[in-house]
Amino acid sequence: MYISHLSLTNFRNYTTQEIDLPVGAIVLCGDNAQGKTNFLEAIYLLATSKSPRASADRELVNWSTKGQDMPFSRLSADVSDRNGAVQVEIVLTAQPGGDDLEQDRFQKRIKVNGLARRATDLIGVIRVVMFDPHDTDIVSGSPALRRRYLDATNSQIDPVYLRNLQQYNKVIVQRNSLLRMIKENRAHSDELEFWDEQLIETGAYIIEKRLQNIEKMSLIAGEIHQQLTNETEKLEAVYLESISGKTAQDITSSFRESLKRAQRQEIARGLSVVGPHRDDLRLLVDGVNMCIYGSRGQHRTIALSLKLAQAKYIHNTTGDSPILLLDDVLSELDSERRRHLLNTTKNYQQAVITATDWDHFDAGFLTTAVKFTVSSGTLEKTQ
Ligand code: ATP
Ligand code: MG
Repeated sequence: MYISHLSLTNFRNYTTQEIDLPVGAIVLCGDNAQGKTNFLEAIYLLATSKSPRASADRELVNWSTKGQDMPFSRLSADVSDRNGAVQVEIVLTAQPGGDDLEQDRFQKRIKVNGLARRATDLIGVIRVVMFDPHDTDIVSGSPALRRRYLDATNSQIDPVYLRNLQQYNKVIVQRNSLLRMIKENRAHSDELEFWDEQLIETGAYIIEKRLQNIEKMSLIAGEIHQQLTNETEKLEAVYLESISGKTAQDITSSFRESLKRAQRQEIARGLSVVGPHRDDLRLLVDGVNMCIYGSRGQHRTIALSLKLAQAKYIHNTTGDSPILLLDDVLSELDSERRRHLLNTTKNYQQAVITATDWDHFDAGFLTTAVKFTVSSGTLEKTQ
């Protein structure tokens, strides 16, 4: 799939930008703080309804709208895939009442082909895989980041997964507050059963799909990693589940057992301690745990292997080539890995690659790419 046209109004440092995008490799080059990451963020947002970095929607709206009557931001993309053309639009509008952009709450409205849709309906309309320097945190950071990697993959190929995940997260919040109330003798432990059943139902689906998908993704990541390391390293990704079982039925019954066993502890802590929100992904190179023992270079290469595996897996399972978004990653890679990565972009219908310097690309690659210079929130086509 590819985006043929992108329109941004008051998004980050873009005031108005209308841009036709071609298939193939697109290079955005510009100095620091010109709008390269913002541009990729806009595409990511249109694909997932979420920003990969903003903690509140108000951060996305151009500061210059501050003080205006109705501050808003609008993003839209025309997308083509094997089924035809689709238009996706997201509009952020300040909620009445606020008079300070630092405090304002923004309402997010999503439309697909002009019709109002929920965030979950966006799944599959635009599929993206984004890779940026922070992705080394998948290897070196907390388990939450590795779970997020799994969830991002699974949600893009399976809307049911996303719905279960959203529901599961809500149940955890409700259940934690009930556990705290039981601890304080303000509720009875019988009330847990209702939430436990919901936790088990949604959680078992999450575990089952994570197990199934990581098994296949690990093989793909292993192959890519071998190429990236000239066959010297063997990467394996293994799901570390707190609840055993392979089939939905096995997982469900051992989930129920585990909850029973942990109930006293959960009440004492006022916290849900059993379930997929506690699971992790072990990343092994030749059997050694890279989260603990990996070098920085290894972390970088593993993160790249995982992201390229994510893209390939989404491609294999959906039949649609996701859009690759590579933000500022070339300068961090050695020439061999850089060549491999740029070569890989040819397997995707569209790839948007940012850099601060044209020298990060070899001349051959640049002749095949469409080039834009980014400056103060404006893209200009460059020969
Ligand atoms: P770098 O090479 O340093 O990564 P970049 O080109 O990727 O730079 P962006 O992250 O896209 O830069 O940010 C461009 C500019 O947009 C920054 O100066 C940032 O402060 C600004 N910016 C961020 N949010 C908003 C906003 N809501 N309104 C206006 N400008 C914003
Ligand atoms: Mg940037």
